[in-house]
Amino acid sequence: MCGIIGVVSRDEFPSRFLLERLKRLEYRGYDSYGYYDSTSLKRNLGEIIVAGEGKTRIGIAHTRWATHGGVTSENAHPHMGCDDEVVIAHNGIIENYKDLKVMLEKKGHEFSSETDSEVVAHYFEEKLKEKKDVKRAISDFLKEAHGTFAILMMIKGDDSIYAIKRDSPLVLGMCEDKLILASDIYAFSDITTKAIFFENDEYAVIKKGSYEFYAKDGKRIRKDVTSFTWQQEDSEKRAYKHFMLKEIEEEPLVVARMLLSLEHEQKEAFRRLVSLVKKSRKIIFAACGTSYHASLLGAFYLHTTGIEAQTLIASEFKHYANVDADTLVIAISQSGETMDVIDALKYAQEKKAKVVSLVNVPYSTIQRMSALSLSIMAGQEVAVASTKAFVNQAALLLRLAQEFGYKANLANLAEKIKGLIAQKDEIRRIAKDMSRSKDAYILGRGQTYPVAREIALKVKEITYIHAEGMMGGELKHGTIALIEKGTPVISLIGCKDEDMISNSKEVEARGAKMIIITNNPDYQGKKGKAKIKDVVFIDTDNDGKFGILACVAGQLLAYYAADALGREIDKPRNLAKSVTVK
Ligand code: GLU
Repeated sequence: MCGIIGVVSRDEFPSRFLLERLKRLEYRGYDSYGYYDSTSLKRNLGEIIVAGEGKTRIGIAHTRWATHGGVTSENAHPHMGCDDEVVIAHNGIIENYKDLKVMLEKKGHEFSSETDSEVVAHYFEEKLKEKKDVKRAISDFLKEAHGTFAILMMIKGDDSIYAIKRDSPLVLGMCEDKLILASDIYAFSDITTKAIFFENDEYAVIKKGSYEFYAKDGKRIRKDVTSFTWQQEDSEKRAYKHFMLKEIEEEPLVVARMLLSLEHEQKEAFRRLVSLVKKSRKIIFAACGTSYHASLLGAFYLHTTGIEAQTLIASEFKHYANVDADTLVIAISQSGETMDVIDALKYAQEKKAKVVSLVNVPYSTIQRMSALSLSIMAGQEVAVASTKAFVNQAALLLRLAQEFGYKANLANLAEKIKGLIAQKDEIRRIAKDMSRSKDAYILGRGQTYPVAREIALKVKEITYIHAEGMMGGELKHGTIALIEKGTPVISLIGCKDEDMISNSKEVEARGAKMIIITNNPDYQGKKGKAKIKDVVFIDTDNDGKFGILACVAGQLLAYYAADALGREIDKPRNLAKSVTVK
């Protein structure tokens, strides 16, 4: 979470360039933002506005997702020490900031924010006062500081940026006349394809036209420059009101592209994945949020073919997973930087499990720590609520299950998604109705249970309506007590699933307002046998595709309900896209 930028340039550039680059990282956090361009420090709340008059050759910038201290301009980064000698921007959490703060306060430092990050500025200011040189001070910091950090630091009278990394992501991009430090490659992927990735406990000194990398003991290290490629959809909203809708409408294109890549550029990697699954005694997925729901669908598909497969929410992985050398752990993460997933993988690696991953952002930490990694090739997702990444994750897992005998026709998946999106006016009508309720329940079974949870997550994230996605069978064990006259219940009915049909009847009998997403022809058309008004009929076989398609219908429902409520759809409150803190 949070995005950081540092720029050192051969020639002068407008200071607003810092904000222009920062804007590309806004999806990482948008509580507040700020920059320092060696003459002025600017900090603001809310959305990044790319403006400013000055010119500079060097500067740092930060867009915040608050962890310690409220969303105020005092807590916005960059932070300075007492006498403005040191300026820092920090992503992560300094876990022992209280101890460091007490130590620094005893030495006379006064703090002006509630953040953990401010200690970093005072820490270095103190070290410089003690006449330590900066590199020695950084080595000390790496010994004394606990937690996760990507730190960019500027010191008065020094024309360098010092960049320090532990666990939080940090990368250096090489552009023609500029060196750009950033939380991820998207910050500069439109202007260069060359980058150096920081590893843990490394730091670098970036000057005009030169960079030097060091290990924590201060020894100089050689780093390789990576040439990266990154599938980039048009990142303008253009005719779309929101990125989320644009990204849903890109699903047919990106899913076809990903499936094709498994026959071509990713063929070898896919073959290796199949062989690893074959060789392992069991498969455990590790993922969070939307990726967790995709993995749950994957576990369903694989399990159906007889493979021992389970999935765990990454933050609970070590409490519930038994892993050993015969276990294949498959990490799923859109950003490839999810801290909880990284922790789960470290644990799995300690236990000698084999780790592979499916990620969207290339060269991310998770990709680099995996023995094998496949790209889900969804392209940049700008909306915080993930949509097309889910579709591609689930489709890749379905394709994997096919190798083990799962029957599904993936050749027409893109076409079917297109057909479903064509029903958006009808979905908008249903969504508008749903938007008037304070609660919603979504029911599924088998392949639609993970989807019920994913739809509920979308509804919560962008409409702020309370939503629960659950197993159809579980409802009667308690939650049914909450159904009142008019409560919306979305029922995901896969073809002739009699149990789901009964569960729907049970809530209908208690006054629920039914919304049916189904491929069962009995519900088709206004005069369908089932006589339900609000139906999204998906014309597809009941193979693994139905789950994916039902999810797309749910994404659209959530989107239009949020739109009817006038929500900030692309940047919902309290959220950030890339969750890089625990
Ligand atoms: N812990 C810092 C803060 O709350 C940085 C948070 C972040 O990584 O966005 O200001």
